[in-house]
Amino acid sequence: MKETLAIHEIRKEFFNAPLENYILTFDDGLYSQYYYWPLIKKIKSNKTFFITTNFIGNGPKREQFSGKYREFPSCYDALQSWKDKGNRENYMRLSELKEMINDGAVIGGHSHNHIKFYEGSLVKKIDDICDDIEAMIDWFKTYLNFVPDEYAYPHYEDFIFLKILLKDYGFNKLYGRERIEIEKEENIFPFL
Ligand SMILES: [Zn+2]
Repeated sequence: MKETLAIHEIRKEFFNAPLENYILTFDDGLYSQYYYWPLIKKIKSNKTFFITTNFIGNGPKREQFSGKYREFPSCYDALQSWKDKGNRENYMRLSELKEMINDGAVIGGHSHNHIKFYEGSLVKKIDDICDDIEAMIDWFKTYLNFVPDEYAYPHYEDFIFLKILLKDYGFNKLYGRERIEIEKEENIFPFL
């Protein structure tokens, strides 16, 4: 049984690691994941891209890897820039996501707004969680014509009611803390 790696932004070094030994999960729908898709798709392992639907932008497709390794902002900086300025440029565009799906990429949900903590009373928390799940489902139906059955918790927070509600909404494969964050996997880059 392969272990599951959780990956955010992609770096050149990743492609020197034995990634085919892991199930690969990519979070947040970052542009770097689209940029490196020509390399990622060659890795012989299951790969799922967990999309935070409200991050996905519009516009024509951008450049992809064709020999040039590029640096990208960290997932933390990308999230902060979206929160502060509504900046979606560090994330995939719908046109790019559709290309990846046509090219065989498996898509899962990663919430609509990437909320870390739900606040207030339990009733309010449950209402807010339902609003987020429903907004995500609506987005998938509107823009991609399907709703995935896989979901990865934002910030790895598998709050018990979130789990129960996701199952009610038809998400059968849930990914939480059992995933190894690539930054914390000591065996993967033994020579660094
Ligand atoms: Zn995330």
